[in-house]
Amino acid sequence: MRYNTIRKMDIADGPGVRVSIFMQGCAFHCKNCFNSETWDFNGGKEFNDDTINTVLDLCGKSHIKGLSILGGEPMHPSNIEGTTKLAKAFKEKYPEKNLWVWSGFQFDKDLKDKEVMKYVDVLVDGQYQDELHNPMLKWKGSSNQRVIDVQKSIAEGTTVLFDK
Ligand code: SF4
Repeated sequence: MRYNTIRKMDIADGPGVRVSIFMQGCAFHCKNCFNSETWDFNGGKEFNDDTINTVLDLCGKSHIKGLSILGGEPMHPSNIEGTTKLAKAFKEKYPEKNLWVWSGFQFDKDLKDKEVMKYVDVLVDGQYQDELHNPMLKWKGSSNQRVIDVQKSIAEGTTVLFDK
């Protein structure tokens, strides 16, 4: 598995100042994807334990409110194992900080039963649809995508939108 970029301070992808990591590889190829350089599964850099430790160290700073995992596609079968490992390590080390993930897969159809969902606070799900693009939307690029409160959704057995 590979990743594209780590941002030490990201104020665009989730609430507050965050660390973000963009995974490498996406098979969806949405029209006018914001990040098409992450499509190639052979691009970017190797994702390994050193990558996880680097991200965890960056997340330890007191001004960092949480971690964001984007892509590329973090939940692609080639990437989900590494994403799960990072998500678990992050939540074990920083239970007070939040984890946001962006995925082209859908929560109820594809992801709700995956182990990684135990560690995710908010999931922005669904493929980007260019014809539904709206620059005023918060945290998402097109109106079909959903900002989901994952832990509430699991507890209530239905998809609950994040409303803060
Ligand atoms: S799922 Fe995301 S990274 Fe993949 S093509 Fe669509 S917008 Fe781009």
